[in-house]
Amino acid sequence: MGAEQVAERFAELYGAPPQGVWAAPGRVNLIGEHTDYNDGFVMPFALPHKTIAAVSRRDDGILRLHSADIEGGVAELRLDALAPQSDDSWTAYPAGVVWALREAGHGITGADVHLASTVPTGAGLSSSAALEVVIALALTDLYDLGLQRWKLARLCQRAENVYVGAPTGIMDQTASACCEDGHALFLDTRDLSQRQIPFDLAAEGLRLLVVDTQVKHAHSGGEYGKRRAGCEKGAALLGVDALRDVPYAGLDEALARLGDEEEIVRLVRHVVTENHRVERVVDLLESGDPRAIGPVLTEGHASLRDDFRISCPELDLVVDTALAAGALGARMTGGGFGGSAIVLTEAAEVDTRTKAIEEAFAKAGFTAPRIFEAVPSAGARRLL
Ligand code: ADP
Ligand code: MG
Repeated sequence: MGAEQVAERFAELYGAPPQGVWAAPGRVNLIGEHTDYNDGFVMPFALPHKTIAAVSRRDDGILRLHSADIEGGVAELRLDALAPQSDDSWTAYPAGVVWALREAGHGITGADVHLASTVPTGAGLSSSAALEVVIALALTDLYDLGLQRWKLARLCQRAENVYVGAPTGIMDQTASACCEDGHALFLDTRDLSQRQIPFDLAAEGLRLLVVDTQVKHAHSGGEYGKRRAGCEKGAALLGVDALRDVPYAGLDEALARLGDEEEIVRLVRHVVTENHRVERVVDLLESGDPRAIGPVLTEGHASLRDDFRISCPELDLVVDTALAAGALGARMTGGGFGGSAIVLTEAAEVDTRTKAIEEAFAKAGFTAPRIFEAVPSAGARRLL
């Protein structure tokens, strides 16, 4: 699927070629899970998988939306009728972006949109952010809004939180909007300051496999909200704005102060150690020792499984099998309860690892996983 194809389909649907074609990628989070709503650190990189949108302006207050990936015709929405949580179909994501831009005072007067994506949905690879960011970037260009990338990400997060009604952090949208080819993005979610960290796997003789377990997560569901509320309670009990403010060196003392709040202790321990893991991975990559991040990734998985308790048998099986077969490190990635895991391995061992995981899934009677290599790729951009 390429930009030209998406433009051609747009012309068929709407009777004229689009004014432009844009792309925004899905992402994998290398390390820093469930830290973003705690004002902490994350380290995603963009995938080559992307959502491509062909878009033209309209000036009559109408938004027309079509997705090649969804059955059904063109949806037509009136801008003055857009209202938070009024739409439980896919159109809420792009409509939410238009709503958020208008709420922020930008004079969007309508658009025609046709899009197609290679980002698997509901796999923890952030197809929702890819969809939001591609629309936001297209409208920024077409309406000459001059919005900076980080600002665009904020508006997309607002669309997802308020309009769609899914309580997600800022990582996914920032990754899709700001990542660079051959780099991972070290992002401080408190002030959105960022640093591009060289992460050229191929040059190092390494590969990172993404294993999509095909177990669907329910992101806006109760478990995510419970973890988030638990983290907020932990911060309140410790008298800090966010768990980000609990220093790693002061963790034991903080946990002691939480006393017999066992569940809160586990959540706090995960967030504080996870922030520390992100900093360790940054140091290791910047000092040119990418293989050494493997054990840190694996530690991260144990923390998500045992302390945060958001893994599932399929994700654990990927990690256990990959490590038993000699991978450098492995962990679940994304919101949890399904979705994808990542495996860091020597390039020469890709086939061995893949086969071991496929066999283990077959033996356990699980649905066959989808396995692909993740190459750190470019963030959102205009294609045509
Ligand atoms: P994830 O972001 O992990 O893929 P989410 O549940 O956050 O999972 O977002 C997936 C939802 O985003 C889909 O159910 C759909 O509503 C919407 N979506 C994503 N990509 C597309 C697309 N190409 N076409 C239409 N809707 C899409
Ligand atoms: Mg999502």
